[in-house]
Amino acid sequence: MTYDIIIIGGGASGLAAGCAAAETGADVLIIEKNHVPGRKILSTGAGKCNFSNFQVSPEHYHPQNPAFLNQTFKALPPAEIAAFFSNLGLLYTRGEHGRLFPRSMKAQDVVNVLVNRLGALGATLLTLTEVLTIKKESNSFLVETVKVAPKWEKKAPAGGKNIYRAGRVILAAGGATYPQIGGSLKGYDLLESFGHSVTAPRPAIAPLKTKEKIVRELDGVRLEALVRLTDGKDKLAETTGELLFTGYGISGPAALDLSRSAVEALAEGPVFAEADFFMDFPAQKFEALLFERVKSFSGRPFSHFACGLLNEKILRAAAELAGIAWQGTLPGVDKISKFGERLKCFRLEITGATGFEDAMVTVGGCALTGIDPSTFASKKVKGLYVTGELLDIDGDSGGYNLHLAWTSGILAGRDAGRGNSV
Ligand SMILES: Cc1cc2nc3c(=O)[nH]c(=O)nc-3n(C[C@H](O)[C@H](O)[C@H](O)COP(=O)(O)OP(=O)(O)OC[C@H]3O[C@@H](n4cnc5c(N)ncnc54)[C@H](O)[C@@H]3O)c2cc1C
Repeated sequence: MTYDIIIIGGGASGLAAGCAAAETGADVLIIEKNHVPGRKILSTGAGKCNFSNFQVSPEHYHPQNPAFLNQTFKALPPAEIAAFFSNLGLLYTRGEHGRLFPRSMKAQDVVNVLVNRLGALGATLLTLTEVLTIKKESNSFLVETVKVAPKWEKKAPAGGKNIYRAGRVILAAGGATYPQIGGSLKGYDLLESFGHSVTAPRPAIAPLKTKEKIVRELDGVRLEALVRLTDGKDKLAETTGELLFTGYGISGPAALDLSRSAVEALAEGPVFAEADFFMDFPAQKFEALLFERVKSFSGRPFSHFACGLLNEKILRAAAELAGIAWQGTLPGVDKISKFGERLKCFRLEITGATGFEDAMVTVGGCALTGIDPSTFASKKVKGLYVTGELLDIDGDSGGYNLHLAWTSGILAGRDAGRGNSV
């Protein structure tokens, strides 16, 4: 029951911290409440795990704190994260916008290489065990746990409560998003019990809800688009990428990229997302293409004219917005022009973002003033470390959040393993 280091949370930062700490020869225990480690990692990047990015720099993190992150990235340069995974045996590949993925495109492989390494180094991984409290007693920490019943078991598990003791504790309990797979506010309570100040946790990088009912008919449609965020007049932000329609609004990388700007702008007034599904065609060229098509399909139903241009559900929605009957005869050029405008500017009014259940990251958390940027050691409690999403720093969509989880975990694990903070 006594270890050199106890890590609370077997997620991204906890598993990376475990590898780095065990590498120093320390006796490591990782405590995870889920029945498997890295459950959230499995859901990242739609199961493909966008685990890092070639363009990592402080500008991709919020709130902006280059002074803190410059020190972090000096202690562990961004390129070393890809190297860390290569050393674990993971081949990786580069996607759009510098995103890094495992070559197998399977998040499970990211978890497997970490867990394999932990096993090879002799670290102990305890699952279905939840940490309730942590207390510091002279030079060691007492970690109180309770056994958790797996979701498929109704009755309480045998074993009940236990106390584990360690010289150092790494708090890697993650944020509050996706409670269905382990997200909770527990880590913030544990932080506060040690006197760390915590900025109120809020959801971010979340799907957006829209006013228009038409999105219900588009549920499940995915397509590449240039998406502009406007206040109805001026452009507020813009991105390109896959847009996914949901029953209540929009999601997918493009919507998630814009969600932070959308939520901020909503505090000031109305916000619209305008999708251009023909970004490779300037407006005039696109109109010319449609008019040419009108000639070819003269005398035939509108559905024949439209078929093959794009996803049919989008075409039907654009036709409806332009006042064109799908099964009717081909209308005049005015209506065709309107139809084209809808495909170049498919406008939806944003009413808000979804909550912790659907958000990718938690904004807010442990104030960075209480944390050493090179080691992630607490400046308040000797021997305590805080990593990953528990910190009051979150990244853009594109692999930046996992990158910081690995980075903070490795730096904390290395330092704790050397026993520097004790
Ligand atoms: C659907 C989804 C997709 C995402 N996609 C990406 C992506 O592609 N790229 C990217 O960079 N980021 C992505 N993220 C964000 C990224 O997953 C997180 O930022 C990252 O996992 C944070 O790492 P962490 O170690 O802080 O927390 P986590 O990985 O959440 O790990 C924390 C662990 O602690 C455990 N735990 C919590 N409390 C206790 C307790 N009291 N006792 C024991 N165990 C406890 C939890 O069960 C969990 O396993 C995504 C997030 C979601 C929800």
